[in-house]
Amino acid sequence: MTQTSDNIDNAEIAKFEELAFRWWDPNSEFKPLHDINPLRVDFMRQRADISGKSLLDVGCGGGLLAESMAQLGAEVTGIDMGEAPLSVAKLHLKESGHQVDYQRATAEDFAARHGGHYDIVTCLEMLEHVPNPASTVRACAELVRPGGTLFFSTINRNPKAWLFAIVGAEYVLNLLPKGTHDYSKLVKPSELDSWSREAGLSVREMIGMHYNPITKRYWLAPGLDVNYIVHAEKPDA
Ligand code: SAH
Repeated sequence: MTQTSDNIDNAEIAKFEELAFRWWDPNSEFKPLHDINPLRVDFMRQRADISGKSLLDVGCGGGLLAESMAQLGAEVTGIDMGEAPLSVAKLHLKESGHQVDYQRATAEDFAARHGGHYDIVTCLEMLEHVPNPASTVRACAELVRPGGTLFFSTINRNPKAWLFAIVGAEYVLNLLPKGTHDYSKLVKPSELDSWSREAGLSVREMIGMHYNPITKRYWLAPGLDVNYIVHAEKPDA
């Protein structure tokens, strides 16, 4: 592992740099993100007003979620440490006509400069790629204003998650490149829950994201065994 003191794993960033030029191709390595994007957008818009809100997307990658949020009327900032994903994200704005402010930063670095600034902070499919996910959660909690909303999503760590999210997705179904996810970095819901509480957040809801390889469909339902999404709030000051 090539961990730095900045809560960045350079080997993880490199994985996304290499593939970034295919980010908006819905049949590429990023197909799973394209497929789940409408589900997570619906989950969020049912739990938070998006229009007119300031929203920070942490680990935004090529901008799938950031653009969807801009389309719903949010004033969106997207941060990521990958140069190539950010270039792709910026370039795609020219095609879509949406507005997103993309910047190269970590959550911790941004929190030092923009604490309490955002109505909504999202951090999806990123916690399982950083050396210290508790620190990322804490930074997200600092970035959101009192009374604001946060959404996290990641992958559970247990034998079933290993079988489905790593063996199944990377080795059997070839949905993701081999080595995309490192088992030891996956995040148990209980861990995310306690990091959130330690950061002063209240977790409102956790829901599972499920996949049927036969029908190739994804859906949200109870059951946090593999992929899951979290809705949290920062209490009013
Ligand atoms: N959130 C996006 C992309 C997920 S892929 C989505 O769900 O559609 C994970 C992203 O996290 C990659 O773009 C990678 O470059 C970024 N990332 C990994 N470690 C990071 C870090 N320490 N700080 C900021 N971004 C990071």
